[in-house]
Amino acid sequence: MRIMAFEAHPDDIEHFCAGTLAKYAAQGHQVAIVCLTDGGCGSPTLPKEEIARVREQEARNAAAIIGAEFFWMGYPDGFLFSSEELRLRVIEVIRQFRPHLILTLDKDNDYHPDHTMAGQVVWDTHVLMTVPNIKTGTEPCDVIPDVYFMDTPAGINFTPEFYVDITDHIDTKLAMVRCHASQETWCMDQYGVSLADNAQVQSRFRGYQAGCKYAEAFRKPRFFPQKTAREGLLP
Ligand SMILES: [Zn+2]
Repeated sequence: MRIMAFEAHPDDIEHFCAGTLAKYAAQGHQVAIVCLTDGGCGSPTLPKEEIARVREQEARNAAAIIGAEFFWMGYPDGFLFSSEELRLRVIEVIRQFRPHLILTLDKDNDYHPDHTMAGQVVWDTHVLMTVPNIKTGTEPCDVIPDVYFMDTPAGINFTPEFYVDITDHIDTKLAMVRCHASQETWCMDQYGVSLADNAQVQSRFRGYQAGCKYAEAFRKPRFFPQKTAREGLLP
């Protein structure tokens, strides 16, 4: 199976679904990560271009831990807007990887506008990628992939429908989070918050809800036509 995960910023995926991606990868599935913005707001001192370069490398290092293919889109951090150009680029990157399943940020419940837009643009394009009259350079997909929304920061406003037991992959997840050293330093200095600590606590809490040590939570938006026979795509 082929699984593609979309994030707004370098480090979103690491927080909310890296354990699930690590589990898929360990089972022999093909995994890809798409980062939509350049993370250029992620430093109080470095210029945008410089912190973007640092964060792209951090995200690539994290993806490499699980052997995930990595796509960097480079939109400006904090200003991800819906447009024909964004939709066409998202359709094209999906056509290139041809996933059976897509994980993305929650378009309805997340607090960050880039996060909700990341969820929205995937949702807005997940059928269009099969349409022959939409030309992007790569052949249309044959099937509409299943879409799941991942957890929100601190789980606020998010009601899980599915849990993935990531107990055996929590060390991999935290190693991926720690690749984002620039964000760990900044968030600790600015807000007194450790990102690795946050990721571990949230995974432990979702595990507590799910009856295991560590878990990640997802929900599935409903649409027509439903494909209930494929509900079991989460590992
Ligand atoms: Zn983010």
